Amino acid sequence: MKTLFQKIADREIPAKIVFEDDQCFAIEDINPQAPVHILVIPKRVIARLGNAEADDAALLGHLLVSAATIARERGIDAGGFRTVINSGRDAGETVPHLHVHLLGGRALAWPPG
Ligand code: AMP
Repeated sequence: MKTLFQKIADREIPAKIVFEDDQCFAIEDINPQAPVHILVIPKRVIARLGNAEADDAALLGHLLVSAATIARERGIDAGGFRTVINSGRDAGETVPHLHVHLLGGRALAWPPG
């Protein structure tokens, strides 16, 4: 069974894909929580950060570097941005295919709810 994000990567479900390389892709979040709200998603499925293992280290690093690249392209690096990975029920994870939220374009409150 493909995850929602695998279906998007395979163009079976429409989404605005804003970045793609051999390891990951990035889409506009369908329910944006900030002027910029992008999801950076690995093509190889890791269900959640809580399942990550040592072999996943390079891929996880690549997701963060990709998020930083997109933040610079969107011009939100100077003002600042936030990356979030929700892992599991208590964190509010709703899609069991690890993804990095990239949020910016406004001042973000802290702590999160
Ligand atoms: P999380 O709750 O951390 O698992 O994040 C899942 C995110 O996926 C949420 O911010 C949703 O708004 C977003 N989302 C769900 N379905 C889609 C979709 N079809 N296209 C783009 N984003 C989606």
